[in-house]
Amino acid sequence: MITAKFGGTAITAGNLMRLKEIVTPFHKCIVVSAVGKEYQTDTKTTDLLISYYHNPSKDIWCKIADKYRRLVKVNAIDVDIDALLADARSRATLYSLQYCASLGEELSARVVAAFFQAQFLEAEQVVRFNSDGNLNVEETYSNIRQSVQGAHLYVMGGFYGGCATGVRQTFSRGGSDVSGAIVAAATDSTLYENWTDVCGVCVANPVAVSDVATVLQMSYGEMYLLSLAGAEVLHPDAVAPVESKGIPIKIGNFMQPHGKSTLVSHCPSRSKLLSIAETVTGGRVVTTVLHSYPNWKMARLISRFLRQNTGKIDYFGKSMEVSSLKLYNIEFNDNVVRLTTDVSIINSLYKSICETR
Ligand code: ASP
Repeated sequence: MITAKFGGTAITAGNLMRLKEIVTPFHKCIVVSAVGKEYQTDTKTTDLLISYYHNPSKDIWCKIADKYRRLVKVNAIDVDIDALLADARSRATLYSLQYCASLGEELSARVVAAFFQAQFLEAEQVVRFNSDGNLNVEETYSNIRQSVQGAHLYVMGGFYGGCATGVRQTFSRGGSDVSGAIVAAATDSTLYENWTDVCGVCVANPVAVSDVATVLQMSYGEMYLLSLAGAEVLHPDAVAPVESKGIPIKIGNFMQPHGKSTLVSHCPSRSKLLSIAETVTGGRVVTTVLHSYPNWKMARLISRFLRQNTGKIDYFGKSMEVSSLKLYNIEFNDNVVRLTTDVSIINSLYKSICETR
């Protein structure tokens, strides 16, 4: 039995049909995000909902409604989307910001359930938070186990659940990954598939660096560290629920379901230099390299790159400033090197480090 989670880019008018190639009779439960970006400068539904809560204008609601109307129309889904939208709008500003932000996932789940003629599972009723804001794991697992029984497929909205003190609570952004992991663990799935728009965990951020390779396997611990370091491919809190049950996570690209993917399990990565995760801020990239070299060796690899590129380098301290090289800062901690560089040098730096084994 497989649990699959689909990110927001998969839940768009142009991409939803691809799910039919992925979801098999082995899938018992799928967890979906709110409709995501349909083009680079587009705004995610969740961000539109957050704006709507602060400024409930017709204009913003039309943008949200338009995404869901097209999702339904393009994919010929038999659902009364106008009624669903009207109902969601009537609740959007009644409770809290988190409630409003959860509506995208609820709408997605209702629409995707109709698309697959599957059973909609209301996350508010099964995923339960305590009054202290923490997930009530026992109650949540038992609710999910009891709910996921007879139907051929269940569809649940990710990112939110019901709260003991209020109506709904959300996880932090990207939290549908966590919901998917919880469902996989609660149902003792054999596999947790996390379908996104990149080919698994890449050695560098594919948005910032071209031709990046996929890390084919890594351990739960490595995945957790990379997520914490900023690899946006998986929410860090999605690791523990499946790790505790030994359920592997497959991180794949829904656009290339048979293409490269990453398998996260108890088996560690085969590479000594695991990965680079980046956050681009104002032309500078903060790059985190997870490695299993001794720090002196990692320092030597980076030094060699700098020498080849400038002719001189001196590394002895914990960090240094070499702004003429567009390498602004290096910090060494155990098995983690964090570099702040200009986006233009990242490709060659990465290659230079990787070529040394
Ligand atoms: N839709 C939410 C977000 O944009 C949650 C998720 O997609 O996982 O953060």
